Amino acid sequence: EVKNQGRDGYCFYAPEMSQRSAASQRIENVLRHALMHDELRLQYQPKVDAKLGHIVGAEALLRLYVQGEEMFTPDQFIPVAEDTGLIVSIGTWALREACMQARTWQREGHPISISVNVSPLQFQYAGFYERLDGILNETGLDPSLLELELTERTMMSGGDGTIRLLRRIRQRGVRLSLDDFGTGYNSLSYLKHFPVDALKIERAFVRDIAQDAETAAITRAIIGMARSLNKDVIAEGVETEVQSAFLRDAGCSHMQGFLFGAPMPPEKFEERLTINGNL
Ligand code: C2E
Ligand code: MG
Ligand code: MG
Ligand code: MG
Repeated sequence: EVKNQGRDGYCFYAPEMSQRSAASQRIENVLRHALMHDELRLQYQPKVDAKLGHIVGAEALLRLYVQGEEMFTPDQFIPVAEDTGLIVSIGTWALREACMQARTWQREGHPISISVNVSPLQFQYAGFYERLDGILNETGLDPSLLELELTERTMMSGGDGTIRLLRRIRQRGVRLSLDDFGTGYNSLSYLKHFPVDALKIERAFVRDIAQDAETAAITRAIIGMARSLNKDVIAEGVETEVQSAFLRDAGCSHMQGFLFGAPMPPEKFEERLTINGNL
């Protein structure tokens, strides 16, 4: 779509558009290289019990390294991976890697759950269930220790087929959570249709609860509603004691955020587990 045309038919937006696709092209090349040369990594962020404070799980988050340096953030490279279809391979890699790691921790006496983000294209791509089932069989991970994080966009995308797939995954024993809850506009009314075990409250809400009375009220309402539907509620992006206290009092069951630990490499996470005494 051409947005504007100059006097001699010159398209003012063309340079910017081609620049953008050059950046995306560069990321695509880096992603392909990383897949072939084993340069993708997962970091793990602690998920803690809101009341007791100990680690009960980890969210696996992708990191992309170029010659040992982190050059692009997930918010930069995940959209490119989606556009190019590379997300299917990358997401499969992440799922297998996270399951192997969780299985190792389970064997070492830390049966924590592992959460893996799944993007819309990856989820809709034919054979998602078979791949998931294969990875569970291959790694021997107890499926109840695996949680898939999906966004509302993914859940809304495929109609009845999507809901059936979600049910099938849950029947396999895998937990489902609705990520970034509150950002979509149909959240509240659609919630009862989504067969999910947990809601993750978007960081933007958590950020403002201490300063903004309306955000605080909405957050309280979301937590109350989720609890009445028998779902776990996880707050994302908890950075301060004030936020943590508010969320705990409001009935939030779990928390994640820099207050409890940023995403970290597996060796670091293991140290945390040991100190945690999570046996
Ligand atoms: P998300 O799944 O909602 O993950 C939470 C993001 O918030 C992570 O960013 C995490 O590092 C960050 N975060 C956690 N605690 C705090 C905090 O206290 N304060 C602040 N400011 N940020 C916090 P990250 O790792 O950059 O990932 C961004 C997004 O990229 C994720 O959002 C997820 O949507 C996507 N992503 C990451 N890894 C994967 C993956 O393996 N597959 C897919 N499909 N998407 C992924
Ligand atoms: Mg997530
Ligand atoms: Mg999130
Ligand atoms: Mg997010």
